[in-house]
Amino acid sequence: MKLRDHAVGTAVAAFVFGAATAGYAAEDREWSYEGPKGPEHWSEIGSEFAACGSGREQSPIDLQRTHAAEPEEIEISWQAFGPEVVNNGHTIQANAPAGSYTTFDGKRYDLLQLHFHHKSEHTLDGKQLPMEAHFVHKSAQGDLLVLGVFLVPGQANGALRTILDNAPQSKGTRKVEAAIDLETLVPDDSAIFRYAGSLTTPPCSEIVSWVVYDRPVEVSPVQIEAFAELYPNNFRPTQSTNRRFILFGF
Ligand SMILES: [Zn+2]
Repeated sequence: MKLRDHAVGTAVAAFVFGAATAGYAAEDREWSYEGPKGPEHWSEIGSEFAACGSGREQSPIDLQRTHAAEPEEIEISWQAFGPEVVNNGHTIQANAPAGSYTTFDGKRYDLLQLHFHHKSEHTLDGKQLPMEAHFVHKSAQGDLLVLGVFLVPGQANGALRTILDNAPQSKGTRKVEAAIDLETLVPDDSAIFRYAGSLTTPPCSEIVSWVVYDRPVEVSPVQIEAFAELYPNNFRPTQSTNRRFILFGF
């Protein structure tokens, strides 16, 4: 268990999440990251994807270090586990068994899965980074907490190695017995960005409390290449911030 002091201001109370019942669950309509089913057309694919076009609190966004926030606590309580590694046609995802959770804003969110994007979805002061990991959590009420971590070239990461070594090369699932420690994919002593947003894939439901870490985590260039061979381009472009507050601080 790691305790991290993180910034979340009193303005958090002003965030209003979309209906917790909005479906983020599997919707099998085909979509992609380019061409006629690409991000600019997601809202036309079906009425259940309407938020992708008309939503006012969409993700990802460009993050700027402007609104300093009062510190608040985020506490990650993840156990090491042998993941179920899924190639779902849009990304490589590692499903977590029950038992890992994060407490944020005094509320418990259970870890469901993590997955990756190449290149990053959020940008930092307009700059896109090589990769981004998303740790998806869900509360008992149905709203989501996603922790976003930028991945940059450097030392290899053992957890990512286990996931990539076991990733099916086409759509499919593989159960892995070897336990991985996901906390090695979260930076220590990092400031965070905090804002209210959405899923970055259809149906783009606006039910996500986003926490994105300012400091990146290193993975090896070979690991980035290995992921990019499977998914060279699985990021949604940044969306308008509109009138949202983006809080930043330690
Ligand atoms: Zn994601």
